[in-house]
Amino acid sequence: MNTPKIAIVSIGTELTQGFTLNTNTHWLSEKCRNMGFEVAFHLSLPDQLDFWKESFQMFIRSKVQTVIVTGGLGPTSDDITRNLVANTFNKTLVYDPQQEKNIQHWFQKRGIPYLETNKIQAYFPEGAQVLENKIGSAPGFLIKDELTLFSLPGVPSEMKSMFQLQVIPELQKQNLKPYYFKDLRLFGISESALESILQSFQFEKGVFWSSLPTPEALIFRLYTSKSMDSLEKAKALLLKNLGPSASQMLISDNGETLAHSIIRLLRESNQKIAFAESCTGGLLSYSLIQEAGASDVLQGSVIAYNNEIKENLLKVQAQTLLNHGAVSQETVLEMAQNTLKIFNSDWAIATSGIAGPTGATPEKPIGLVWIAIVNKCKKTAFSEIFIGNRKDIQEKSVYKALNKLRIEIIEQKNTCS
Ligand code: ATP
Ligand code: MG
Repeated sequence: MNTPKIAIVSIGTELTQGFTLNTNTHWLSEKCRNMGFEVAFHLSLPDQLDFWKESFQMFIRSKVQTVIVTGGLGPTSDDITRNLVANTFNKTLVYDPQQEKNIQHWFQKRGIPYLETNKIQAYFPEGAQVLENKIGSAPGFLIKDELTLFSLPGVPSEMKSMFQLQVIPELQKQNLKPYYFKDLRLFGISESALESILQSFQFEKGVFWSSLPTPEALIFRLYTSKSMDSLEKAKALLLKNLGPSASQMLISDNGETLAHSIIRLLRESNQKIAFAESCTGGLLSYSLIQEAGASDVLQGSVIAYNNEIKENLLKVQAQTLLNHGAVSQETVLEMAQNTLKIFNSDWAIATSGIAGPTGATPEKPIGLVWIAIVNKCKKTAFSEIFIGNRKDIQEKSVYKALNKLRIEIIEQKNTCS
């Protein structure tokens, strides 16, 4: 049985001209892939009819069975999707009075005046099945013809809601092969290092993998149509071959990010953390604060960029700064230890480094970052020379600090009461 193919089409001049990032395609592709489809095409078109016909022929030739179109369902003359689809299938547009009532009702409930121009949203290609829009005004529709085509709104929240509630149940009627996957997030291993390890053994037949390097981790996806159990075995085999540091490398096997895992681990042990950030400028704090639940575990942070702040606010000794400099083991340790006291937290992390492009000295090159992690019974400091531009160095510092913290929290369970 071949994997059914799907095409994702986004309509909107704002997309092709670079005003709006096409997040719909990204979101839909992941959902479709995880359901067991092969996402065969991504296509973005401006609000014009020019290239649609050729594209549609290409889908047919490529044996695409399903097309999901988003955008262009609005009431204005540049919203072309309903005409486009009707022409493609040689259908006329038919007025649906019940749908107009629903749209009017939607406007009424929100106290927005209903305009005659909105009536166009109650027209659908003949024979189409209307897809209700639970959160916006424009209904979508579904046509089953030479292929199955879903037309969804462009507004991301409306598109997502319609997809979840109405498209997924339709798609599941297709004869999909089961698709099991497991995403292992691995920290501190490059794709090439992993590749050479993978050459030394083989996964069971029918288990496949792909890898995706991200700034946070190397995401190694294992997938199969066999069973979840096959993936568990494959995971165990990989970890065995990664050697003794495998458990330190593996952030999660269920999509949990580093920041999530820190929040979870701290919450589980009812512990709090605080930060003193120099070169990372708040990024470390934000990595947690951007996640829901951060308030359960984060006390606060100081962006101690200037030496005066390190000295006056964080009470780093003037002598330490003078003798060793701001980017040093001694300074980050004092920053972290004093932060632990000031915030009365269980953990504190301090960062200080040279993010560039200027500020390097012969002893302290660009990319040198000192990180200290302390708790009430242990202090650790380490340095690393990160490669990249200013932003890369800051991001890498944050992930390195978080991963080290993750390991420390796990190990602390055994070594510190
Ligand atoms: P509406 O009834 O709101 O007009 P519509 O289906 O016509 O719905 P569009 O006009 O194409 O939708 O887009 C509405 C909004 O959604 C715009 O702000 C647009 O930038 C955004 N949008 C459209 N398509 C995408 C996409 N693929 N990714 C992210 N945002 C999108
Ligand atoms: Mg549009």
